[in-house]
Amino acid sequence: MAPSRHDFQDLKRRVSIERILGQRGLLHTFSVSANKLVGPCPLHRGDSRSAFVVSRARNLWYCFTACRAGGDIIDLVRRLDHVGYAEAGRVIARLAGPEIVAAPPRPAFRPFTRPLSLDPDNPFLRDKGIRPATAAAFESGHYRGAGFLQGCVAVRLHDPAGAPLGYAGRTLDPHRAQRSGKWRLPTALPKHSTLFNYHRVDRRLSGGLAVVEDPWSVMRFAQVGLPAVAILGATMSTEQCALLAPATAILLMLDGDAAGQQATRLLRDQLVATRLRVVTTALPENTDPDQLTDGELRAAWDCFSGLRQKP
Ligand SMILES: [Zn+2]
Repeated sequence: MAPSRHDFQDLKRRVSIERILGQRGLLHTFSVSANKLVGPCPLHRGDSRSAFVVSRARNLWYCFTACRAGGDIIDLVRRLDHVGYAEAGRVIARLAGPEIVAAPPRPAFRPFTRPLSLDPDNPFLRDKGIRPATAAAFESGHYRGAGFLQGCVAVRLHDPAGAPLGYAGRTLDPHRAQRSGKWRLPTALPKHSTLFNYHRVDRRLSGGLAVVEDPWSVMRFAQVGLPAVAILGATMSTEQCALLAPATAILLMLDGDAAGQQATRLLRDQLVATRLRVVTTALPENTDPDQLTDGELRAAWDCFSGLRQKP
């Protein structure tokens, strides 16, 4: 395989012109000082002992007499061997030997702990039946600044112990939602161990818990005094399942679209395998939990409570 552009840069850094001259048995004709090599030109084979100069620091060469040309190590090998770039690269790569290349580092998650100023009185939230006081309590609202959360209704995320992780943003721009999804999450967020609202309800798990997809449904449940967590998507990790293990029973209420229905079947099996009692609520087609009335949310919970108390 021909060396890539990146490989050429790497080879120029790793192999010195001095080494090429040494390999070709030419170094003895050069005078060597700290920063340069000076000797007869190995390209036009002239006899001037000062024709060819190599800068050791910059790893570049120049012939001041017949060639009146210069370049880097690739150019030198091309001219010495009368070969193209690719072959010159291979010649130098053989000289360089294998390099131990470290895997590129994964971006580490860094929690964003500063509280943001958000406007909880927003049409998007009102449309979901979320009162400004509720949004404020959940540290959610319209973000008016620039950057990552620009044009989003943001909501603060915490780890299971309640330490802030940063903010998730739901974009209000339909084109952006179409292009790159509705949600913006912090880089490298440990989503597998994050359950939205868990730290606020973890002492109430024994009374049962609603599990929903997004923070809006959690806020709607909270408004009628019922505990809920959001999995921030339609899949669950083993860590998220383990966090829910102390709950006596789970009311699984995902969105009423095809994806939500499929996810409901998968998550039910997953939670049952964690020895949890699970009640699923099938919502009408294309209905999300946040579109239910307060009365419908309570009715779903009452039905769940009745079922989970059966022996
Ligand atoms: Zn020359």
